[in-house]
Amino acid sequence: MADKDRPLVVVENLCTHFPIKTGVFKKTVAYVRAVDGVSLTIRKGETVGLVGETGCGKTTLGRSILWLQKPTSGRVYFDGVDLDKLSDGELRSKRQDMQMIFENPYSSIDPGMRVGGIITEPLQIHNLAGKDELDDRARELLVLVGLDADMVERYPSELSGGQRQRVELARALALRPSFIVCDNPLAHLDVSMQAQLTQMLTWLRDWRQLAYLFIAHDLALVRRISHRVAVMYLGQIVESAETDELFDNPLHPYTQALISAVPVPDPAERDRKVLLLPGEPPSPVDPPSGCRFHPRCNVAVNRCNQSVPELRETDQEGHEVACHLV
Ligand code: SF4
Repeated sequence: MADKDRPLVVVENLCTHFPIKTGVFKKTVAYVRAVDGVSLTIRKGETVGLVGETGCGKTTLGRSILWLQKPTSGRVYFDGVDLDKLSDGELRSKRQDMQMIFENPYSSIDPGMRVGGIITEPLQIHNLAGKDELDDRARELLVLVGLDADMVERYPSELSGGQRQRVELARALALRPSFIVCDNPLAHLDVSMQAQLTQMLTWLRDWRQLAYLFIAHDLALVRRISHRVAVMYLGQIVESAETDELFDNPLHPYTQALISAVPVPDPAERDRKVLLLPGEPPSPVDPPSGCRFHPRCNVAVNRCNQSVPELRETDQEGHEVACHLV
């Protein structure tokens, strides 16, 4: 197997449920099933896009894969190592290789620290650089993400949104990870800044053989950056395929609706029908029986509310769908 085809992250039947507690004795009365039986493989150097409506569990899945949120059950293997079998110290060490960048860098960077300190903080935590090296390392990393090396002296409040997101990326790259969960990192940037950062992420991925789980709402952006795309609905993957296959031949009614709503630049295609999804996604506390999508599916049949469709491979290699009609 070529190195680039090697699975780097293997997720097996992962569940992350959050208890809902009430009363004086904090009795658990129910669970939010944020992630409910997800299996996924990400290869070295590969970008897997993860899409779905707000609240479907994408961020929780990303955090659970990195063990930042301990899953309730299931397995995550990183480079062949079962994360559940690691001690706290071993897990901390493994995390050098797995990083996350967030939608809002303000939530993850200390506004009172200078940029140089923010970027090199992971190196200090993991004892990977002496004090005299930190300034040089910060400057190198800033240049790597397309910023001026002298920005080491600035504070986050003096940076634009795009610059802050690059600082966040530089910080994630400091430990030379092989896998990064990108949680909607371009959401608050304008289109030109999105394009620049997309190019940078792609260049870094190809140069360093980085793997990304790229979480986003913008399907056009996901299409540009991803090798494969997985579609998530109410805590589960309902479809996944190579990017072009998924966008050109979506099979699950939910995917079809999401893709039909993506704006198209070609005037000839502007008349195509947008498939509207009725209602809001149901609560992950008490998901619908059978196929979780059935209350909103306009092609549902009798058995859809009784039997759970399995995620199965179709005739097209690597294209998986969970729908009774496919
Ligand atoms: Fe719709 Fe039934 Fe397919 Fe679910 S299994 S997506 S309800 S047709």
